[in-house]
Amino acid sequence: PPPTLLHPEKWCRGFNHFISQCLIKDFEKRPSVTHLLEHPFIRQARGKDMSLQKQLADLIQAQEQLGFVAKIRYERIHTRRPYRVDAADKYSLDDDLVNLEVLDEDTIIHQLQKRYVDLQIYTYVGDILIALNPFQNLSIYSPQFSKLYHGVKRSSNPPHIFASADAAYQGMVTFSKDQCIIISGESGAGKTESAHLIVQHLTFLGKANNRALREKILQVNPLVEAFGNACTAINDNSSRFGKYLEMMFTPTGAVMGAKISEYLLEKSRVIKQAVGEKNFHIFYYIYAGLFHQKKLSEYRLPEEKPPRYIDNETGRVMQDIITKDSYGRQFEAIKHCFRIIGFTDEEVHSVYKILAGILNTGNIEFAAISSQHQTDKSEVPNAEALDNAAVLLSIGSEELQEALTSHCVVTRGETIIRTNTVDKAADVRDAMSKALYGRLFSWIVNRINTLLHNAESRMNVGILDIFGFENFTRNSFEQLCINIANEQIQFYFNQHIFALEQMEYQNEGIDATTVEYEDNRPLLDMFLQKPMGVLSLLDEESRFPQATDLTLVDKFEDNLRCKYFWRPKRVELCFGIQHYAGKVLYDAYGFLEKNRDTLPADIVVVLRTSENKLLQQLFSSPLTKTGISLHSFIDTMEMMRHPEETTNMKRQTVASYFRYSLMDLLSKMVVGQPHFVRCIKPNDHREALKFSQERVLVQLRYTGILETVKIRQQGYSHRILFEEFVKRYYYLAFKAHQTPLGSRESCIAILEKSKLDNWVLGKTKVFLKYYHIEQLNLFLREVI
Ligand code: ADP
Ligand code: MG
Repeated sequence: PPPTLLHPEKWCRGFNHFISQCLIKDFEKRPSVTHLLEHPFIRQARGKDMSLQKQLADLIQAQEQLGFVAKIRYERIHTRRPYRVDAADKYSLDDDLVNLEVLDEDTIIHQLQKRYVDLQIYTYVGDILIALNPFQNLSIYSPQFSKLYHGVKRSSNPPHIFASADAAYQGMVTFSKDQCIIISGESGAGKTESAHLIVQHLTFLGKANNRALREKILQVNPLVEAFGNACTAINDNSSRFGKYLEMMFTPTGAVMGAKISEYLLEKSRVIKQAVGEKNFHIFYYIYAGLFHQKKLSEYRLPEEKPPRYIDNETGRVMQDIITKDSYGRQFEAIKHCFRIIGFTDEEVHSVYKILAGILNTGNIEFAAISSQHQTDKSEVPNAEALDNAAVLLSIGSEELQEALTSHCVVTRGETIIRTNTVDKAADVRDAMSKALYGRLFSWIVNRINTLLHNAESRMNVGILDIFGFENFTRNSFEQLCINIANEQIQFYFNQHIFALEQMEYQNEGIDATTVEYEDNRPLLDMFLQKPMGVLSLLDEESRFPQATDLTLVDKFEDNLRCKYFWRPKRVELCFGIQHYAGKVLYDAYGFLEKNRDTLPADIVVVLRTSENKLLQQLFSSPLTKTGISLHSFIDTMEMMRHPEETTNMKRQTVASYFRYSLMDLLSKMVVGQPHFVRCIKPNDHREALKFSQERVLVQLRYTGILETVKIRQQGYSHRILFEEFVKRYYYLAFKAHQTPLGSRESCIAILEKSKLDNWVLGKTKVFLKYYHIEQLNLFLREVI
């Protein structure tokens, strides 16, 4: 038959492509029109729209064509022809790029574009999922879809993010092995959205019949994101921290709890935002919420002009706060999250007070006092902001002023008090705000972990949603850290997809074509090596009090002698790095300061005297094993080691903490079976249906999609030990009472009997393509 006859558009106009495919596939499984008319989609459509009656009539008319598909399907199963070579499957062959006969960038791009304008945003590359951001709400995430993607063969339905979640879940339950889903992509490509959808589906699969627990888990993301996300130039809801969320399950797969780890919160956003960008969401939510409840004055927040930290230049913030009712609604939603997860009212009240305290701290100003002897002394001319901050943080306002405008130095056993210049005092103030927010964030994460911890859980599915590669007009220390993290994740991806695979072929003596790929190992070494890597050099320079950002760049230039680093001639503080994803120019201004991230001991001492229990806790001894403890642990250790030396202490730098978190993250990832989701941003204007070939091509290139398609096409994604293989599939060739040896010969018998081609035997393992497994399992189900 002409292939067009089989095209879904011919027989169910009006349904979108996705739904038509689901219907066809359902029909193939059970070729009965009566059954089809009972399909939830049809029922739903019928109830809503009478004009669809006409379409349903068409549908019945199309019976013959469908009957044909079903017939082919039937024949295919019964003659056991290889799954992929069937003409009737044409329309779903393009679900997976590996099926493409011609493999080049052009073909892949066209394929993705064709699917995108058809609202098929998901596409497989073997076992990897590509997700294009649709920039519009699609009706494909309802509970009906969750049911559709529950424990079925992957090819039964069109590609979907739920299918990836399902694969991870089934992998965990079947093999009792932890899983991790790694979501990557640029800012705004849809990582966070994908992570939410995965959590949603896992909660469904994990049969959280305990409704309270399900509710709790679903509130975790919105709560953490209110504190960790912000509006940027690229994304209105951009995550400004990396997140690894582990969903915990019992051995039978019932969801029991969750745990989050956070990485690299962009604290500098608290004190300053780039033009057109905003502070963390929570500040606006709380401002709007308190405004509507007429409680602003209780938290000492002005109604006329919002504090400096949240009103950068535009002066339009208050108007937004009053008129945008979404802020107010979000505030209610966050209150709800806190309550459902189990925070006490007292805790929530303390959180609000600290947030309001931070905003007031930002309004504290400094002026120089010039007397005859001292010109570098500063005072606070606006006592009101100082008092407000002190009251909200439950500390003495004089002590606070003291800690901001002066510092203790210990020389030769003597403590001397030195005054701070206006600039220095402002830096101390901002450092305090950043520390307050950073620690508050870690505390919230930590508290959620305690509240959602469950000792009975044995296995987990981790979901990594971490900032994508960034390249702005001005790139600073934060971008460097983010890009190093991406470099590490890409390395992990390469290892899994290419390196390990090729190593295994060699070990097993299999002659598989090697696929060239861009190995970013040397780059990663350039960053992480000790003592000559970027991070180590940065740390070393941060220890010299006389060092400047310029001496840092000099140091880089002298020591990083490799092709990935260069220094443009004319711009002093500038250096360039050739990342796997492209060239980035960094501006080293402020690198040392940002890396030192010093919070003067004077401030810590004052904050520890707070009567706010939560605040005290943020700056006191270690709590537990996660983020917060590390900060306070380091402080405490330092204070214990050098009780007399309250300043100038050798502190943990951001770079070394970053290195530690990166290793921590990796150690979690390597123990699990990985699943990759590659998010792609089809255009820079957040427009639905717009597909910029150029932009997509760049992303496909640096994520190595073309190479991945090749290796998935040529490679063998399943490698099973002979013995294991025979144990699993001996039914296909032997009788139930037979006990075949777990040998090469038995494997051959099974494979030949199953009429599969293209498999290979190594020294100890059977090498199979990913579609073989599906086919074998299908046969198995028929036989048993
Ligand atoms: P990232 O985390 O990669 O920076 P987000 O997940 O925040 O990107 O996505 C950016 C925006 O794109 C979202 O706010 C949403 O509007 C849109 N978006 C992403 N994925 C989807 C999706 N599957 N369906 C609808 N909209 C989406
Ligand atoms: Mg995000």
